[in-house]
Amino acid sequence: MRAVTVLLFFFAFGVFGPAESKSAGNASRTTSPQVVRAGTNPNPLLTQDLLYFWIAKWQRTLALEDWSIESKIVRTWELPERAVANIHWSLPTKKATIRVLDSVDSSLPRSEILKDTELSVVHELVHLSMSKLPLDPNHTELEEEAVKKLSVALLTLEDSKK
Ligand SMILES: [Zn+2]
Repeated sequence: MRAVTVLLFFFAFGVFGPAESKSAGNASRTTSPQVVRAGTNPNPLLTQDLLYFWIAKWQRTLALEDWSIESKIVRTWELPERAVANIHWSLPTKKATIRVLDSVDSSLPRSEILKDTELSVVHELVHLSMSKLPLDPNHTELEEEAVKKLSVALLTLEDSKK
């Protein structure tokens, strides 16, 4: 099955980008950073093991164990412009791929990169939890708003337990 790549950019301050398309149960969503990227960080913080750990943890929390989820750390040029993460999924096969930005390409302060990346993972998985809903591929603004609020709330809730 051909994967349909559709992109959505949502920008800081609640400004939403172009609409996307979706067909045959395949879809994707893209997460943009809260700040504009600039420069590079020579010290990678994010590891594939950490990414696996987050996905396993949040996949369990969100009861998404019936999905087979691949993950990949990618460079700036492998993501849509302004994106820090994205997800592609296929409902018929229950397979998804999450890609997150390599920390060497992040413009965030070192202390914020990991938390922001975990938030991106949660964000993409919340999208997945809604993937069976009758979403409107041409109007994903409300979906993005809900996903953003829920993912921030989930992480805030977790932080408050520490
Ligand atoms: Zn999103």
